[in-house]
Amino acid sequence: MNNYQHHWKDGLPVHLPLGKIVCIGRNYADHAAELNNPIPDSPLLFIKPSTSAVHLTRPLRIPTDRGEVHFETELAVLIGRPLTAASHEEARQAMLGYGLALDLTLREVQSDLKAKGQPWERAKGFDGACPLSPFIPVAQLPQTHLHFSLDVDGERRQSGDTSVLLNPVVPLISYISHQFTLLPGDVVLTGTPKGVGPLHSGQTLRLQLEESLLLETTVL
Ligand code: ZN
Repeated sequence: MNNYQHHWKDGLPVHLPLGKIVCIGRNYADHAAELNNPIPDSPLLFIKPSTSAVHLTRPLRIPTDRGEVHFETELAVLIGRPLTAASHEEARQAMLGYGLALDLTLREVQSDLKAKGQPWERAKGFDGACPLSPFIPVAQLPQTHLHFSLDVDGERRQSGDTSVLLNPVVPLISYISHQFTLLPGDVVLTGTPKGVGPLHSGQTLRLQLEESLLLETTVL
């Protein structure tokens, strides 16, 4: 049973329901290259269901019977207003909070689906596939660009900077809203930098967003 609820970093609940989690594939050139994927000419969008969300601060339970589960560390944006065909300015004003997410991916299942030209939901939408951190109000972080990182067992594995996004955050949210409506409580994941790799039981993950968010979790 999923009991995920958005929270602020100070522990207070965000009184918005999680609807959908909209993700973009290949938004960092270095990650597209590491998986030998071409860079798409328009944003490659997919959706993780609300049932995939879990609290990143709790130990992670991952599938053990469908091949490797890869971590993808991503900046998450909590949406605070409805957005339909929104301008960049409307998209900017609808951004309520920043957090971090793991876009967990059954990589072998995904490779198989990709080879067959099929959708990725079985690889990306399983229960627990989207650990989400608490959120920080957008106004409390720099407006320019944001840096985040993932250490696994004390070793730096991923390092992301939103200044090198192929589709920057605000235009991306605007673009998404031209494809389908975003609602308050929805979350947008902005893509992963290079360094993705498999999770293993017993690992400790340390995620950091600027100086504002520092989280540790373990893999069960
Ligand atoms: Zn991803």
